[in-house]
Amino acid sequence: MNNSLFVYNSLKGKKELFKPILENYVGMYICGPTVYNYVHLGNCRTFISFDLIYRYLKHLGYKVRYVRNITDAGHLENDEDEGEDRIAKKARLEKIEPMEVVQRYTVDFHDKMDKFNVLPPSIEPTATGHIIEQIELIKLIINNGFAYEVNGSVYFDVLKFNRENHYGKLSGRKIEELIHNTRSLEGQNDKKNPQDFALWKKAEPEHIMRWPSPWSDGFPGWHLECTAMSRKYLGKKFDIHGGGMDLKFPHHECEIAQAESIENISPVNYWLHTNMLTLNGKKMAKSTGNNILPDEMFNGSNNLIKKPFSPMTVRFFMLQAHYRSIIDISQDALEASEKGLNRLKESLTTLEKITPSNSTTNFDMVAWKESCYKAMNDDFNSPILIAHLFDAVKFINTVSNAKKQISESDLHILKETFHHFYFDVLGLNIKTHSDSINTIQLKGVLDLVLDLRKNARNSKDFKTSDLIRESLLKLNIQINDSEIGSSYKIK
Ligand SMILES: [Zn+2]
Repeated sequence: MNNSLFVYNSLKGKKELFKPILENYVGMYICGPTVYNYVHLGNCRTFISFDLIYRYLKHLGYKVRYVRNITDAGHLENDEDEGEDRIAKKARLEKIEPMEVVQRYTVDFHDKMDKFNVLPPSIEPTATGHIIEQIELIKLIINNGFAYEVNGSVYFDVLKFNRENHYGKLSGRKIEELIHNTRSLEGQNDKKNPQDFALWKKAEPEHIMRWPSPWSDGFPGWHLECTAMSRKYLGKKFDIHGGGMDLKFPHHECEIAQAESIENISPVNYWLHTNMLTLNGKKMAKSTGNNILPDEMFNGSNNLIKKPFSPMTVRFFMLQAHYRSIIDISQDALEASEKGLNRLKESLTTLEKITPSNSTTNFDMVAWKESCYKAMNDDFNSPILIAHLFDAVKFINTVSNAKKQISESDLHILKETFHHFYFDVLGLNIKTHSDSINTIQLKGVLDLVLDLRKNARNSKDFKTSDLIRESLLKLNIQINDSEIGSSYKIK
C-alpha cells in the first residue's frame, strides 16, 4: 500500500504520488510556534493536521524523522523586517528575561500538544541554539553573490536571485507585483529594494537578544532558522516541508530562495500547507475578541463557546475536515463531534463483546478495510476515513443486536483495522468527557455534595447521608468525618 499515497504538493498545485528520496525513510520539517504567547487554536489545528500525517506515514511503515522547530528569536512584529522582536517585546512588557518568555510559552505549547495527543517530533531544535549554523549560511549566500551587507545588517537580494531563479514559485506571487506593492518604510533605506529580506539584523542598543557575527552584534532574520535547521537535520534536499497556509509567503518562499541561492537545487520535494480555522464564521483574532484559547475551550471559561469540550472532542472535530479546507468552530459543530466521538468510543466497547459465528459475514470487510486506506492515501482524507468508520459502527451495532453475523476472521480484520485507525492514525484516545472538567470545578462540586450531606445529617436523614458516602466511595472518593466537620480524600 506504500506506493499508492498521493499528497497535494503546494509547489505544483496538484496531487502527486508520494515517493521519498530514500526508500522507507521520510524527512519532514514543520515550522513550529513562535513562543511569545499562549498557542492559539488555529496553530493547534496545524500541528494536529501534521500529527495525523506523521502518524499515517509511520503506520505505513516509513521511518520518519520529524523535525519541528521552536522559534525563540528573530521573529519580528511584521514581515517587512520592521518592528520589535516578538519575544523581546513580551519580555519588555512583562519585565522578565526573554528566555523566561520562551520557557513559559514552550511549556504551555508542549502541554497543549500533550492534551491533544499530538506526538512529539523526533527533533525539536530552537533558533537560538543554531546561531552559528545561520551565520555560516549567510557567509555562503554572500559568497554566491545573493546577499549584501549594509551598516552591519545583511539582506537577501531578491531581484538578483530572480534573474537566474524564480522567486514566487511557491506562493504564485509575481516579482513585478511585489515591487509594485511593497512600500518603502521609514528606516528601511538600508535595503537596495524593499522586497529584499533580512538575513542578519544589526541590533539597536536597546535590543537584548543579540549575538556576535562578522557583520555586527545582532540577530538572524526569521526565515533563515528553518533553512539552517532543516539542512542540519534532514539534509540539503528532503521530502516534506509544511506549515500553516499563512507561512507560504513570505516565510516559505524566502526559505526556498535561501536554499537555492546556496546549492541551486530545490530543497523540498513536497510542500504541504494546512488551512485556516474560523470561529463562529469569522476569522479568529485577539484584537476583535473573536478568539478562544485551548484551555478556555477545555474548561468552558469563555464567552463564545460556554460548554466545556474535551481536547479529544476538539481534535476529532478538526479531523472531521480535510486539512486543506477551512473549518469553522462553533458550539453546535463541537456538540455534533462530541456525539460522533462517543459513538465511535461505544463501538470499541461493543466490539469487544461480539462473538463470531460460523456463517459468513453480511459485510464486505476486506473492501471496507481497503476503502479506509484509500481515503488516507488520497492526501490524508480523514473526513472520508471517519465516514468509513461510522459505516463500521452501524454494522457493529447490527451484529451486537444479533441481526447480522460476523465470521472469526472478519472480526479480527474489523478489530485490528478499527483500532489502527482510531488510536494510531487519528490519534484518538478513550478518555471520557470528564477530562474537560478542571480541578477547580471538581472541588466546587465536591464541596457542594459535602454541604448537602451535612444538611442531611443535621436533619437526621441518615439514609441520604449514607447514600452520598457510599456513592462517592464507588468513585474512589472517601469521606472522613471528624469533630471539626467532614473532608474528602480522592484515592
Ligand atoms: Zn519556518
